[in-house]
Amino acid sequence: MNYVIVDRGDQLSKELADRFHILAAANGLKRNDDTPEMVISIGGDGTLLQAFHSHIDRIADVAFIGVHTGHLGFFADWKADELEQLVNMMANDEPRIVRYPLAQIELVTDEGTSSHVALNEFTIKGVDGTLVAQIDINDELFEMFRGDGIVVSTPSGSTAYNKSLGGAVIHPSIESLQLAEIASINNRVYRTLGSSVLLPQHHHCDIISRKDQRMQLAFDHLNMTRDDIHSIRCSVADRKVSFARYRPFPFWTRVREAFLGYDVK
Ligand code: NAP
Ligand code: MN
Repeated sequence: MNYVIVDRGDQLSKELADRFHILAAANGLKRNDDTPEMVISIGGDGTLLQAFHSHIDRIADVAFIGVHTGHLGFFADWKADELEQLVNMMANDEPRIVRYPLAQIELVTDEGTSSHVALNEFTIKGVDGTLVAQIDINDELFEMFRGDGIVVSTPSGSTAYNKSLGGAVIHPSIESLQLAEIASINNRVYRTLGSSVLLPQHHHCDIISRKDQRMQLAFDHLNMTRDDIHSIRCSVADRKVSFARYRPFPFWTRVREAFLGYDVK
């Protein structure tokens, strides 16, 4: 088996990466920066997002493992003092591969369509004022949105930005996308549902913006400002992301430990 490490860049993460390489070499694991099978993220959830986007072209051929150097992460389930155990298991055990849904986002402009993928969420916000957009679901008008923005999250991203907006926490076995509003304005012209909406696989929504509006778009942590977008199509991606699990760590345990702090003795 071969692997690559993406670390957060801080002192502790770099030291852990060095230690991992030494332990891995002693256990017959090969470092492979170009075509790895395993991508080890050392840092936080943000580091795993970086690792994900830097391996997006080979997403079907890699599995991710997260080591956290701060608080417990959603994606990072190994602790800094468990590196030896992790390397041992990687060298000797078959992992269980769990596959989580992703969001597919297509940006339609005069020049054509570009396709993007998000692990946590896609975010759209107005730059010069409120964002004005028509939202269609399955090619039918659903609502006219005016407000700060819209967050379209995956199930595994439902515990991130979506949760801060009052969205529901969704188990990653439910292949879906959640639309959550950021501070919508409601009056006679602009009226939105207010609660967040869950779209199943094979449904799609289009966010159709007023012409020439400057918007800030984000795919996870990756931001861009655009003024050439006609519409944005959001759906559950055909591709999934894989995580390698050498021991069980159920989603609801992670939710409990990260947000509620109850440890089961
Ligand atoms: P960041 O500002 O460090 O991230 C914000 C927090 O979200 C961090 O504590 C991060 O954990 C955590 N996080 C990331 N993915 C998560 C997940 N799937 N479930 C639970 N918590 C998660 O920026 P970043 O590290 O580059 O992460 C980008 C993410 O920040 C975006 O994808 C978005 O979800 C989130 N965000 C949240 C808000 C908000 O809640 N108001 C606003 C903007 C962006 P780590 O510290 O372990 O990295
Ligand atoms: Mn972070």
